[in-house]
Amino acid sequence: MTEIKPVKIRCDACPVMCFIADGKSGACDRYANQSGNLIRVDPLTIIESTEQKLVPFMKDGSPEDWDGNIIKGDRTFITAVGAGTTYPDYKPAPFIVSQEVDGVDMVTIVTEGIFSYCGVKVKIDTDRHLGDERDIIWVDGEPIGHVMTTEYGSKMLSLGGVEHLTGGSKKEGRVTCDALLRLCNREAVTLTIGDAGHTTDVVVQAGKAPIINGDEEKLMRVGCGSAAIGMFAKQWLNHADDVVVVDDHITGVLSEHQAGKELGVPPTGIKIIGRRSTPGRYFQVAESGTGWGGTDLDDPLKILGPFNPKIATEGMRLLMLSTTGEQSGYFELDANLVPQPADMPDALSVTTKLIAENCEPSVCSVLFMGGAGGSLRAGVTENPVHLTRSVKNSLTHVSCGGADAYVWPGGGITVMVDVLDMPSDSFGYVPTPALVAPIEFTLRVSDYSTLGGHMDEMRPVDTIQTDTLRRVKQNIQGHNPMSRANYRWPNGDKS
Ligand code: SF4
Repeated sequence: MTEIKPVKIRCDACPVMCFIADGKSGACDRYANQSGNLIRVDPLTIIESTEQKLVPFMKDGSPEDWDGNIIKGDRTFITAVGAGTTYPDYKPAPFIVSQEVDGVDMVTIVTEGIFSYCGVKVKIDTDRHLGDERDIIWVDGEPIGHVMTTEYGSKMLSLGGVEHLTGGSKKEGRVTCDALLRLCNREAVTLTIGDAGHTTDVVVQAGKAPIINGDEEKLMRVGCGSAAIGMFAKQWLNHADDVVVVDDHITGVLSEHQAGKELGVPPTGIKIIGRRSTPGRYFQVAESGTGWGGTDLDDPLKILGPFNPKIATEGMRLLMLSTTGEQSGYFELDANLVPQPADMPDALSVTTKLIAENCEPSVCSVLFMGGAGGSLRAGVTENPVHLTRSVKNSLTHVSCGGADAYVWPGGGITVMVDVLDMPSDSFGYVPTPALVAPIEFTLRVSDYSTLGGHMDEMRPVDTIQTDTLRRVKQNIQGHNPMSRANYRWPNGDKS
């Protein structure tokens, strides 16, 4: 008897071109062979507008209350999440959907773009030193990114990008793609920053506090050391003779600072070891680290030189703080003018708590950034550059999973979007390796025609057929990709 081999079908949604047996999925787990039919495994995700703006994303849809009608409620936006990809590039996008919005015929072109040129920018709200600028960031022993310059109260990381995805070893590309995918889908990823001898381990997860060398970070500073002196100077008057706010970047000293001078704080003879910038503001008081104010200090007295005996007197009161108020110490000068630890008066304890109260919770932000290349744009129009111009002219609005995407100035369509604004599990991958991210272009039907769109493929939203569907509520920002405010129609023209 001849054995009948199960029929394999070929997936043509990306250059890998998997042969998939019946009941199996392809290399990326996005497509499967279901009884000889190629199906997209994940459901198409739609966003329903709601009167109630402050509603978070539902994790999953509710199939039991779906009556088969894709239109429900006031308005529906079809995202590219679960929409699928078309390949090669001359083919139209998987869904080109029209609907009338406030008397205007609009069209949305959705596709799951395959991004070889993409990465994430990570903002970590912390004072602690995670690594020097340009330090390499590693996952599973592979380089996947680097440290960028520090912003106000936050460390910035650049992860991924085409050099790591395609320019290194096969393993580097695979590990980079996997780390990006998990970060974009809001999972936790452990990053190792720096080289042997000076590494920091950081667990990063979108919307969560970072875990730095095993300790969960709590607060983001309200200001640098100098700013803290300026903001809280009045609180310390009459309770301390001098205050030092220790900071890896700008350490502040009350008696020398302009704020102290204007409030009549007399000199104390204090000496700070560091590079004086302007009165009461010092740089480089210590090495960077995970101690006080992002320095390597666990003893703040190490930044003090001897007090000037012509000015200082026994019994002078000194308060030392970190920028978040989480670390603090109170000292009084002994007969030799050496600071000795003492019990902090209640009035000063209140001020340290006030600084901590004014800090914000420390959180990790993950922003996907990718370039919609000419091939992706070809799924929208036969003249890809026309789409670019239409976006620049604010005639076409770009969203990712329905979330507002920032489009960078200059050429091309380079977008950046907060993954927390998108539906959960919006991202996928293909083993080329590249990240798969949803992208939607919304514009007037008349403009779509003008830019050479695939008009024959346009279908009214209520004719869209799909086996599976996931409904999510409008995100917490209440962003509406079809709002008139997104468009710069000439003379307010709607047609
Ligand atoms: S990797 Fe995924 S999208 Fe690419 S051909 Fe295979 S199943 Fe299709």
